[in-house]
Amino acid sequence: MTFNPNADISGGKTSKRGRNTGIAVGGGLGVVALVIVAQLLGVDLTGLLGGGESQESAPDTSIEQCLTGQDANERVDCRMRGAAASLEDYWAAAAPQELGIDYAAPQDFALFTQSVSTACGSATSATGPFYCPPDQIIYVDVTFFDELESQFGASGGSLAQMYVVAHEWGHHVQNLAGTLQAAQDGQTGPTSNSVRTELQADCFAGAWVGAAAETRDDDGVPFLQQPTVAEVADALSAAAAVGDDRIQEATQGQVSPHTFTHGTSEQRQRWFTVGYEQGPTACDTFGIDGAQL
Ligand SMILES: [Zn+2]
Repeated sequence: MTFNPNADISGGKTSKRGRNTGIAVGGGLGVVALVIVAQLLGVDLTGLLGGGESQESAPDTSIEQCLTGQDANERVDCRMRGAAASLEDYWAAAAPQELGIDYAAPQDFALFTQSVSTACGSATSATGPFYCPPDQIIYVDVTFFDELESQFGASGGSLAQMYVVAHEWGHHVQNLAGTLQAAQDGQTGPTSNSVRTELQADCFAGAWVGAAAETRDDDGVPFLQQPTVAEVADALSAAAAVGDDRIQEATQGQVSPHTFTHGTSEQRQRWFTVGYEQGPTACDTFGIDGAQL
């Protein structure tokens, strides 16, 4: 998805942290208990992800240099800041107006490298992108975007990256709405609260994409241009790549629906599309029968 080159993205709340902090984190990841419901994948990727150098790791430069849509089109860290600026403006209006939720921004959107300390414990790049409810911070290591392409087979592209961010932002909205706790009941399976929570976050991501071309900076310039069919396909490809069935097939060689936490590839694409076409009020994954989920 393309930013308008003259859009002002400087209001995006984004930081960089966690370079080589030297924290030793074992495969067990104590962080998982709290975080697992809120991360994108819900599986421990430690064994799956290579530690290879990213071709698109965030440049070692200041996020403060990311000022315009042009910057966002050229640099992944600036793209993150641009997405944050747009998501923030979108939800500040849509959460109260369409969902009746009092909205407050996340405390931060942290781009981290290798490992990071959070209120949910320590995490590494292998944890995947996640939202930590106690500190209300979204954490993303942008090297994940390379893995999404190389390990999970997503098509790549800027909207695939921003879908990931928008999904985590959706968890923040759920946290404000008081629905995120529902996912922490420890249940798994095709109709579990965990799956309902994750599909709603996908739907919220789609809702933002659907409205992104009408979401404007303080000067009235839309942050983003209307996504093309190919760009929406990028987002759907990413949503499909992180479906429970797809990941289980790849990592275990079989699919075990009773352990689903995030929904199938088909469901994740479908709920993204529901949000994209109908907006956030259509994202009622908790109110419908399991057979319709
Ligand atoms: Zn999630």
